[in-house]
Amino acid sequence: MSLHVAYLSMEICLEPEFPTYSGGLGVLAGDTLRSAADLALDMVAVTLVHRSGYFRQEIGPDGDQHALPAEWRPESHLELLEPRVKVSVADTPVTLRAWLCRIRGASGHEVPVYLLDTDLPENPPDVRRFTDTLYGGDDRYRLCQEIVLGIGGVRMLRALGHDAIDRFHLNEGHAALAVLALLEEEMGSPDGLDLAAAIDRVRPRCVFTTHTPVPAGHDRFPSSLAAELLGSDACARLGRLGVGGELNMTSLALESAGFVNGVAMRHGEVSRDMFPGYPIRAITNGVHAASWTSPPFQALFDRHIPDWRRDSNCLRGLIALDPDEIAYAHAEAKQMLLDAVRNTTGRTWDPNRLTLGFARRATAYKRPTLILRDLDRLRRLAARRGPIQLVFAGKAHPDDEEGQDLIRSITRESGGREDDLELAFLPGYDMELGRLMVAGVDVWLNTPVPPLEASGTSGMKAALNGVPSLSVMDGWWVEGCVEGVTGWAIGEDGDGHQLEPEELDDLHADELYAKLENAVLPCYYEQPQRMREMMRCAIALNGSFFNTHRMVLQYLFEAYRDPVPAGDAGTD
Ligand SMILES: *Cc1c(COP(=O)(O)O)cnc(C)c1O
Repeated sequence: MSLHVAYLSMEICLEPEFPTYSGGLGVLAGDTLRSAADLALDMVAVTLVHRSGYFRQEIGPDGDQHALPAEWRPESHLELLEPRVKVSVADTPVTLRAWLCRIRGASGHEVPVYLLDTDLPENPPDVRRFTDTLYGGDDRYRLCQEIVLGIGGVRMLRALGHDAIDRFHLNEGHAALAVLALLEEEMGSPDGLDLAAAIDRVRPRCVFTTHTPVPAGHDRFPSSLAAELLGSDACARLGRLGVGGELNMTSLALESAGFVNGVAMRHGEVSRDMFPGYPIRAITNGVHAASWTSPPFQALFDRHIPDWRRDSNCLRGLIALDPDEIAYAHAEAKQMLLDAVRNTTGRTWDPNRLTLGFARRATAYKRPTLILRDLDRLRRLAARRGPIQLVFAGKAHPDDEEGQDLIRSITRESGGREDDLELAFLPGYDMELGRLMVAGVDVWLNTPVPPLEASGTSGMKAALNGVPSLSVMDGWWVEGCVEGVTGWAIGEDGDGHQLEPEELDDLHADELYAKLENAVLPCYYEQPQRMREMMRCAIALNGSFFNTHRMVLQYLFEAYRDPVPAGDAGTD
């Protein structure tokens, strides 16, 4: 298919050393583009340059998180492009330029990514900082960034010669103002459409992916701020699009996209409940296999299925692999992680002990401390069934006090040395540390409050490295869990929704401890052969499916191509 697709995203994880992402959304965007490049799709992407990054995390001796700027120099890594475009913010012209980053696929095809930059001498000092800090600043700063991304993004694409874009993929609501630029194009064209006709032309070209049921993930701006920064004409158009008053970016995207999807089957259902009246589909997330497979497993896959980098589906062939080979590769990946633990904490962990990993944005609904809820019980079951080493990582947004408290309570428990239970918190969760952790632990832990984990992708990265998950039934795990085969479930699907938060935590903690004691620890310590078979199933069943090659092809066939005539494709 020769569809030309533009992918707009506030964050994109391009290279481990570029701080242009904060977490899951940016990692997914980068993985999507890496797969599009492998599959030689005609895709381009737009984001902001984020010169000060998200932030660099340091943890003080008391467990306090210090958020330091993560400065980087795009000029040392990227190519500066000629065109300049302007957007208007509060009636002031803002000039933008773009940096080019090329993502090169497995067979050499390139996907260009344009990183927008307002740091130009002709802009006033505050405007020069618009593209500095990812998710920093206040509402006004964020809306300025979204004007640059959405409106500036479309104008920059045109200035770069992309005038035949078939689809604009809005990766989360941050990019939704692109719709205003597209409407303007239609209305300003020689045949000068009226707004209703322009909307009919724009809608089939827009695809919107919503990524979270959590309210903080849906940007909303006061109407006075929107009017001030966007101007009254734009606001009048928004009003006629059905999003007058408060500017809700999710509503704007829902109103103006011809295809809308959530990021896992369960998340599709949850989103349809949240936004009744919109036909919201589901395309389950994935990860880019070659980017998240550790060196020992890359070598193993290269030996057995040389084509796996071009086509992740072939990983299913590993169902017949010699389990001992998996065990050797895993031992190597585990040692790399234990070396990192030693380098940060000074402690030497035992490679023969069950090592559990948890790395996520530190925020309340992800419940990183659920496993610490009854430490005495955890110690007792480790004493009975075998020792446990627990490794954590995660950044809390600098405004998320509760998230920072969670980091404090984990680091408080990580100090001492105990016989059967060791804890460590590794600071600075990023792509590099993520790679070490998902491959180096024996079991990947995931304990969000359902149904708030829209998809989750770190467990998919673990699966590619033969690491089973122990996870609450939510997000992708509803699809990926085969009990005792690809991992273990905590809580029945849909269980406990009627409970108070504290009761739900008690219930899930109880089930977590029971699973550890009766399933995970016995399997690890007493049935090593069975453990290896689970590792093999994690790769062959889940690695072969929960990857961005499969996901991008699904976008191509379901979201990007022209709608299938009614009757052939129903929403479920
Ligand atoms: C994969 C990844 C995430 C997202 O993981 P979830 O399981 O979706 O929370 C966040 N941050 C980094 C650095 C990652 O590599």
